[in-house]
Amino acid sequence: MQAIRIHEFGGPEVMRLEELPDLQPGPGQVAVQLKAVGVNPVDTYIRAGMYPAPPLPFTPGFDGAGEVAAVGPGVKRVAEGQKVYLAGSLSGAYAQQALCEEAHVHPLPLGISFAQGASLGVPYGIAYRALFQRAKALAGETVLIHGASGGVGTAAIQLARAAGLTVIGTGGTPRGRELVSQQGAHQVLDHHAPAYLEEVLKLTTQGRGVEIILEMLANVNLGKDLKVLAPKGRVVVIGSRGTVEIDPRDTMSRDAAILGTSLFNATPQEYAGVHAALAAGLENGTLRPVIGRELPLADAPRAHQQVLEPGAYGKIILRP
Ligand code: NAP
Repeated sequence: MQAIRIHEFGGPEVMRLEELPDLQPGPGQVAVQLKAVGVNPVDTYIRAGMYPAPPLPFTPGFDGAGEVAAVGPGVKRVAEGQKVYLAGSLSGAYAQQALCEEAHVHPLPLGISFAQGASLGVPYGIAYRALFQRAKALAGETVLIHGASGGVGTAAIQLARAAGLTVIGTGGTPRGRELVSQQGAHQVLDHHAPAYLEEVLKLTTQGRGVEIILEMLANVNLGKDLKVLAPKGRVVVIGSRGTVEIDPRDTMSRDAAILGTSLFNATPQEYAGVHAALAAGLENGTLRPVIGRELPLADAPRAHQQVLEPGAYGKIILRP
C-alpha cells in the first residue's frame, strides 16, 4: 500500500509518498482500506515538529473513512466490508490503509460519503467537545463561532443549530460567509471588517453580549472576545497561534470563564459520548460535513499549504 511518510520534521516537502507492506490487524484491531483522508491544521504542526509526534519515520493524519479490510480476534463492533470512519489510528491516516484499535472506528451512517466521514473525527469531535463538554451549551443561548467557515466552524454551526442555540458566525471572505449562512448561522459577520464585534453586541438582547464564544484564533481575538461576552459567559479556546494580551477585569466584571480545550484530553467516556452524538446527528440529517477541496494523496504537501491559507471553506480531503 502507499502511504505518506515523514522521516524528518520540516516544511510540507518532508512528506513523501512511499510503498509500505499491507497492514494486518492483531487482537482487538481493525485494518481499514481508506477511500478519503481528512487534513487538519494540527497535522501541519506535528509535521513541522511543533507538537508531540510519533517516533520518526511516521505517517501523519488522524481522520479517514473507508471499508473494513480485516478484523483481528475479539473485534465485535465492526465487520469486514463495513463502511466506517476513523477518529485516530495506530498507523496514521495519510495512507491507503490504516490500522486501528476497535475504539477508533465508527460505522458510517447511510448517505454519508467517505469524504464526509473523513471530516468528522477532529473537527466535529472538537466542535462537540467545546460546545457541550466544556461550555455546557444550553438551548436558547447565543454562540459566536469566531472562525465559522472552516472544518471546525461549519461543524460547530450544525451542532449548535441542532441543539437550539442562536448562532452568530464569522468568515473572512464573501464565499466563506455565504457558506456560514448556508450552514444555518442566524447572523454572519466579517472578522476582517472594522468594528465587527460591536455588531455582535447589537445583535444580542439589550446589547448584553453572547453566552458562548468558540474561538479559532485566540492570539488575535481573546482580548476582544471578553468584551462581547454576556454575564457568566464562556469563551472556549479551540485554536491559537501565538500569545495575546487580555484585561482580566473583563472576566471579573462578568463572572466569565476562559476554557481551553484539546480533543486529545478527552477521556474514553467523553470520546464515546462525542461519537454517539455524531451518530445521532448524522442519522437524523442535522450533521452534514462540507467538503471544500479534494486532492490526491500524493498532493499532501499542497494540502498542508492550503489548510493554513486564509479563505477557509469546509474541509480539505485527500484521496488515497
Ligand atoms: P480551518 O478549516 O483552516 O479554518 C480556520 C478558521 O479560522 C476559518 O473559519 C478562518 O476564516 C478562521 N479565521 C481566520 N482568521 C480569523 C480571525 N482573525 N478571527 C477569527 N477567525 C479567523 O481550520 P479548522 O480545522 O477549522 O481549525 C480551526 C483552529 O482550531 C485551528 O487553529 C486548529 O489548529 C484548531 N483546532 C484545535 C483543536 C483542539 O483540539 N483544540 C482541534 C481541531 C482544530 P477565513 O479563512 O474565512 O478567514
